Amino acid sequence: MIVKHSQCSKCKQDLMKGNLLLMEGDQPLCLTCAGFEDLVFLPSGNSTLTRRAKKYSTESAVVVKFSRSRKRYERQGILVQKKALQKAQEE
Ligand SMILES: [Zn+2]
Repeated sequence: MIVKHSQCSKCKQDLMKGNLLLMEGDQPLCLTCAGFEDLVFLPSGNSTLTRRAKKYSTESAVVVKFSRSRKRYERQGILVQKKALQKAQEE
């Protein structure tokens, strides 16, 4: 999760604060260029939903945000496939 304005190293799309990006080495990639465009963000907080969505999703990624005050990355939630999240919510 972006804490300061950035730009995709591939398509040059502007990435604003609060959006998501993938760091590949030191190269920022937008979610489309990273191949994550069909994934949706599921915020932390509901551990049952998170666990189920992860189980049904063939791809998932952990979303972190750098905390300047604590000087470390903190987990914000996960990215899972849309249909996996729907299935988890239906259960
Ligand atoms: Zn891009």
